[in-house]
Amino acid sequence: MNFDLTSEQSMIKRTIREFAEEEVAPGAIERDKTKQFPTEIFKKLGELGMLGLPFPEEYGGAGADTVSFAIVTEELSKACASTGITYSAHISLGGAPINLFGTEEQKQRYLTPICTGESLGAFGLTEPNAGSDAGGTQTTAKEENGEYIINGSKCFITNASYANHLAMTAITGEQNGIKEITAIIVPTDAPGFKVIDNYEKMGLNASNTTELVMDNVRVPVENLLGKKGEGFKQFLITLDGGRIGIGAMAVGVAQAAYERALQYAQERKQFGKSLSKFQAIQFKLADMAMKIELARNMVYKAAWLKDQGRPFSKEASMCKLYASEIAMQVADQAVQIHGGYGYMREYEVERYMRDAKLLEIGEGTSEVQRMVIARLIGC
Ligand SMILES: Cc1cc2nc3c(=O)[nH]c(=O)nc-3n(C[C@H](O)[C@H](O)[C@H](O)COP(=O)(O)OP(=O)(O)OC[C@H]3O[C@@H](n4cnc5c(N)ncnc54)[C@H](O)[C@@H]3O)c2cc1C
Repeated sequence: MNFDLTSEQSMIKRTIREFAEEEVAPGAIERDKTKQFPTEIFKKLGELGMLGLPFPEEYGGAGADTVSFAIVTEELSKACASTGITYSAHISLGGAPINLFGTEEQKQRYLTPICTGESLGAFGLTEPNAGSDAGGTQTTAKEENGEYIINGSKCFITNASYANHLAMTAITGEQNGIKEITAIIVPTDAPGFKVIDNYEKMGLNASNTTELVMDNVRVPVENLLGKKGEGFKQFLITLDGGRIGIGAMAVGVAQAAYERALQYAQERKQFGKSLSKFQAIQFKLADMAMKIELARNMVYKAAWLKDQGRPFSKEASMCKLYASEIAMQVADQAVQIHGGYGYMREYEVERYMRDAKLLEIGEGTSEVQRMVIARLIGC
């Protein structure tokens, strides 16, 4: 067993860490306050070749592996989780389904601009009445004269304001009383398509989270992604990969919180000693370090299995569940170690706590992950 990164993975890690420290971290507090989307950062990530990282070179990607994607997501999230979620959704929810299920023409047309950064990637599954139960989709796509006419709405969709197109699920028919759910690629500038960027969020303030409204949106039937009626299955496969992204984000946020807490505990003196000399604080930090180590190993293992072409659904679900829950615990303890200062924005740990909460919710809540794992272990 080899736990070392390859030379390519190490090089990507060095590059993205330097970029994250110099370009992403400095504005994170300000962006959290102003809710300003990190447009410039994404322009630069495009120039660095990070926006098509795991996709084939013929579409402008870098042909790197999933472990590298996890490393980049972790490092960006450590500096700014809003940047991390934007990146993770761009790759694993926006680009991945087109790469996995698209025709050659669709990849040329829709994956290439994602790889170059001309469009950010987005993915439309969740609806007001279809969250954990994504099969409850109510959006419809009626076929008529070589077109799909789409009506309905989606909620909580990441990146849609910056996407030229996105894949979404819609009902295209019914078979034996069961809804036929199909994935369709929809250009966001199509007449009748509205992207609403109006949410007031708890955290991830600089990320773009939108509502989509489709009112008689017409797209040619060639925009069908994969096979008719297989949209639900395709999105479940997409979410398996996405969960590695959320796991990596969680490791990044937890690592940032832990490093802040360790440094603070070494510097802050009470009762004539550094906080780090009190066993109660040492044990908190030891637990934080151990949980992060385990979460990162779980994320890398799931990514590695995916790269080997082996089954990875269970490991992806486990790493997402564990990493997101420990990110919340670590951020909470980091605030605790900072005492009253931890409650203040400038110490950043309160932001980590607000940002971490989404990781237990998005791409399948913790409850849903436990349901997935239970199914996969044969319950
Ligand atoms: C910031 C943000 C970004 C997002 N980005 C995207 C995106 O890009 N694309 C996209 O499609 N979606 C996105 N989502 C949606 C996200 O995936 C959903 O919010 C999530 O899947 C949960 O769905 P819900 O919010 O409808 O909650 P619900 O499904 O209503 O769940 C509410 C609660 O009930 C629990 N619950 C539900 N069913 C069960 C059950 N059977 N057993 C036990 N407990 C259950 C849940 O675990 C949860 O605790 C995003 C959400 C947020 C907040």
